[in-house]
Amino acid sequence: MKVLIDHGRCQGHGRCWSTEKALFEPMDDEGHSAVIGGEDQPDDPDLVAQAMRAAEACPERAITVVRH
Ligand code: SF4
Repeated sequence: MKVLIDHGRCQGHGRCWSTEKALFEPMDDEGHSAVIGGEDQPDDPDLVAQAMRAAEACPERAITVVRH
């Protein structure tokens, strides 16, 4: 899968990286988010579930999950 963050939309609330710690991390002091290891991620079911939860929980709709 690909996990994409629209950095123009991300407001740094940190909801993703505070709850889905295996997949997201803050990339700056303002809490903007980055995907750990980059946008290409394995189709591991646990990771896919984490990515989907984060995408649904993001108040800015900044996270997109693309399944292969
Ligand atoms: S939850 Fe959304 S807006 Fe908040 S840090 Fe994560 S990607 Fe950015």
